[in-house]
Amino acid sequence: MSAEPLLEVENLHTTFETERGEVPAVDGVSFTVDRGEVFGVVGESGSGKSVSALSVLGLLDSARVEADAVRFDGEELLGKSDREMREVRGNRISMIFQDPMSSLNPVMTVGEQIAEVVRHHGETGESASLLSELRRKYVTGTSEKSPSWGRAVELLETVGIPEPAERAHEYPHQLSGGMKQRVMIAQALAGDPDLLIADEPTTALDVTIEAQILNELLDLRDEFGLSIMLITHDLAVVRETCDRVAVMYAGELMETADTATLFEDPRHPYTRGLISSIPRVDDDREWLDAIEGNVPEPADKPSGCPFRDRCDAAFALCDQPLVGYRGEQAGHTTWCHLYNDAVEYDGEDATVVDVDRAREVIEEHEAEEDVPYRPQFGGEYA
Ligand code: SF4
Repeated sequence: MSAEPLLEVENLHTTFETERGEVPAVDGVSFTVDRGEVFGVVGESGSGKSVSALSVLGLLDSARVEADAVRFDGEELLGKSDREMREVRGNRISMIFQDPMSSLNPVMTVGEQIAEVVRHHGETGESASLLSELRRKYVTGTSEKSPSWGRAVELLETVGIPEPAERAHEYPHQLSGGMKQRVMIAQALAGDPDLLIADEPTTALDVTIEAQILNELLDLRDEFGLSIMLITHDLAVVRETCDRVAVMYAGELMETADTATLFEDPRHPYTRGLISSIPRVDDDREWLDAIEGNVPEPADKPSGCPFRDRCDAAFALCDQPLVGYRGEQAGHTTWCHLYNDAVEYDGEDATVVDVDRAREVIEEHEAEEDVPYRPQFGGEYA
């Protein structure tokens, strides 16, 4: 197995043209997804998680997407044609969306929907042209006897659907929310991808079904060596499932670490706020700690740290450009000026003890790369 990451994204910028001018929804984000790992991207709504994934997949026609690199399995995706990207999507990278009801076709059986993807993947040698599809469905009626149908039933079984041969004949409205999400996963697996991007795959489900679906994803990772990029607003989900995690806010990275480190030693005030808002079984708090305020609109982001209007620890340096400060653990990086060498922080108040040195530290970090705040998973700046 190659030691190179499966997916490498460097300095991603996604900009939308709006009535208020150009707004950056993703602003200089870099990350990697390793082979066979579950990589979590967490943050509130509006933090740029989904937009980052859609940018990687080339699914944002209305946005300008720029990056230093978006490499998948060593191959640059930037600059590929629509046709080439369609080959990548589905065959190499699949995405599961959060709302199966609006992603599944209500007038096709779930078996047909999965079989269609299998045919497009080409594994069974059946033609996937429109004419062939129509002939199969309306003239010869062979759709349900085809190898692709058999494969669809197998996939439904793989994702834990009971009586898959019977269920394959059902329409989405006949299935529960959890079943529909399993169908979405089966459909995503039909192209035999290397990377599965799961965008809030359990948001619409109750907790017991959520746990089943997350376990199913982990089993698939173990069975097929899949890499999974899990997008969620829920740190509790991250803790249960992810190997590494990136915390995003307002289109920027705030903190990256392996999951154990993030929970044992959260350094960013935003991460700490998210963790404090998770309910615990041994909780004797009457109220959960909420982070006051909302994620700013991309057009209204404050300069410097985008979190500073909501941050209790904000201090004099926070209007300066963010740079990544490394923690003791490899890959633990925090984009927060509390970790500037020239700042003293007692847990409540931060003081810049040497203003010139503080500026120097920021400049040194900026000069380390063309990209001023690029995380280097594995610990070291290049
Ligand atoms: S840089 Fe400043 S405002 Fe931003 S999180 Fe750190 S302390 Fe808070």
